[in-house]
Amino acid sequence: MKLRSLFLLAPAALLLTAASPNPGGNHAKPHWTYDGEAGPEHWGELSEDFKACKTGRMQSPIELGVADVEAKFAVRVAYRPGPLTVVNNGHTIQATFAPGSTLSSGISRYKLLQVHFHTPSEEVVYGISYPMVAHFVHIDYAGNLAVLGVLFEEGAHNPELEKLVKAAPRKESEPETVKGVTFDPSKLLPANLSVYRYEGSLTTPPCTEGVRWHVARQRVTASAAQIAALHAIMGDNARPVQPIYGRVLVAGAD
Ligand SMILES: [Zn+2]
Repeated sequence: MKLRSLFLLAPAALLLTAASPNPGGNHAKPHWTYDGEAGPEHWGELSEDFKACKTGRMQSPIELGVADVEAKFAVRVAYRPGPLTVVNNGHTIQATFAPGSTLSSGISRYKLLQVHFHTPSEEVVYGISYPMVAHFVHIDYAGNLAVLGVLFEEGAHNPELEKLVKAAPRKESEPETVKGVTFDPSKLLPANLSVYRYEGSLTTPPCTEGVRWHVARQRVTASAAQIAALHAIMGDNARPVQPIYGRVLVAGAD
């Protein structure tokens, strides 16, 4: 499949399958899970569309830590507060936003589409996995995706995250806008946006490659109760780390 041209022809249409970790809305797509016969080891065999999960050489997540290149590299974000729309898509809790929030990475500029969560973190840094990660998913004018990962460690209660914890549907749901809540995605970010950067993929089927990954080196906190609340809904939803196959890992200098 010529993914690149599909992106160019119909970014919005492809986005529904590529950017959403949930192909469950489309019943033609096979069911996939995080364990057992439809688990990560088998994703690539569940469907021709999921082949990249098995044969791709630029898959995510990967081990982070010692970088090949140190560079003064930080992403810039301009996220705006707005209404909070939440969905439980059967794989993750996901919040979507009104248009207007952006991320700049080098010369590229992306629009923020959604943030979703994994417990534990998919990213492993110096061999350590964290209790949770937030993935902020962005798209540029041509349909290219960029993700910003923010790792959570257990610590202080996180007031902005609490809005999401409270609104998170326990069961698979349709997107719903939460009445009377204004959510500011920038409040989930660390103060310092020095990042690891590498070229990777969606971490869920169809494991589409060509995703520009950024993972903030500085972590944020959430309380044990907040992390437990999201974990109770999502379960373990982290794909194991994938081989790096010679890709370059760039780390922003502190
Ligand atoms: Zn994710």
